[in-house]
This record gives sequence, structure tokens and C-alpha cells, in this order.
Amino acid sequence: MGIFQLLKGVKSFQKETFKKNQNKYVDLVKNGQNPKALFIGCSDSRVVPSLITNSEPGDLFVYRNVGNFVPPFNPEVEFHGTAAAIEYAVSHLNVSNIIICGHSHCGAIKGVYEKDKLDPKSMAHLKKWLELGERAKKIVENMSFTQHFSFEEKLRHTEQISTVFSMQNLLTYPMVTKKVKDGTLSIRGWYYKIETGEIYYYDDDKMDFLPIKHNKD
Ligand SMILES: [Zn+2]
Repeated sequence: MGIFQLLKGVKSFQKETFKKNQNKYVDLVKNGQNPKALFIGCSDSRVVPSLITNSEPGDLFVYRNVGNFVPPFNPEVEFHGTAAAIEYAVSHLNVSNIIICGHSHCGAIKGVYEKDKLDPKSMAHLKKWLELGERAKKIVENMSFTQHFSFEEKLRHTEQISTVFSMQNLLTYPMVTKKVKDGTLSIRGWYYKIETGEIYYYDDDKMDFLPIKHNKD
């Protein structure tokens, strides 16, 4: 999609979608936002939070980064976008859910395996950032049952395990832990399969991702 198509899109949004929902948007400004969930997803252009959850403006507080990683709590770090989003959503907006959504065919997870090829100068930040996937990669490489897996199968596994590690890292944030203990905040791990549209949720007891089932309607 080129810039001209995007500009055309802006025009049609203003003429059609905005016009249709104008009252709602004005109301969201008057009363402020009150999203129920913080959605942490990948920057991947194919993972569109509002689309896959069929949600509207005001529903989700979204933070997207390369690989949907949550770094461990570290107040020493000067600029930390993911942590800032977590603090704002949890302490200020009082969201009751945090969803970490991993996905299939994630370029960042593949990048974790190919990190050594990245130029340390022009890709310095990306190279450093991808270290966050290292732990998941090591686990997958050392599992006995993954030894006969193809590279692609290993990637699918790493995407899921990395999502679980991000869920665990969330608990290193003091305010998150406090609210989870209070029962006012839930952490949910999702895995979105781009090619089928399915979303799986992480089941703590089974320690596995299971399909989100729907009631027959
Ligand atoms: Zn991704």
C-alpha cells in the first residue's frame, strides 16, 4: 500500500467511518478512555488487535513492539516504552486484563535464530532487543522432543514459549503482581495463527495453548 492509497484511506475514514460513529468518538473524548484490557502484540502488519478481537476505539489499550516481548522490570533503564505502557495501563487506566499475543510466522522470533547475521551498527537496537527471545530459543533447542522438528516447527514452538516468558516477565512489575494477587488483574497469553484466523489461549494447568472455543450461535 503506497502513500497515496493511505491518504485516500484517511479521506474515506473521515467521510464514512468517522461520520457514522462521530457521537461515540466525541463521547470518548468527553468521558475519557476506559479500556478493559492492555493488549501487547507484535508490530507485524498482519497482526491487527482491533481486527482479530472485533473491537472498537476505546476498547483496547494497545502496545505493539517487535516480537511482542515484555522485558523484565528494570527501573534503571532510561527509555523503556513497553514498561511505560504497562505502568500507564495498570496504574492509571486500571485495566483488568493484560493480553500478550504471540503469533505464527513471527519475523522477530525467526530473527532471534538469525541474530548473528545482523549488522551490529545499522541494526544495533534490533540486535539487542532480540536478546529477549534468547531464553525461549534455548529451551526449544534443548527439548528432547524437538530434536526431530523442522526449523519451521521449532519457530512455532519458540513463538509460543516466548509468549509465556513475557507473561512471566509481567509479574516482575510490582504493580502487576500486586493487582494479580488482589484478584483485580488477569494475565492472559494468546497465540494468533495468521493463516487460519484461530486464536489459542495459554492454559496454566495444561501448560499448553488451547483453541478459544465459541458457544454455538
Ligand atoms: Zn511478530
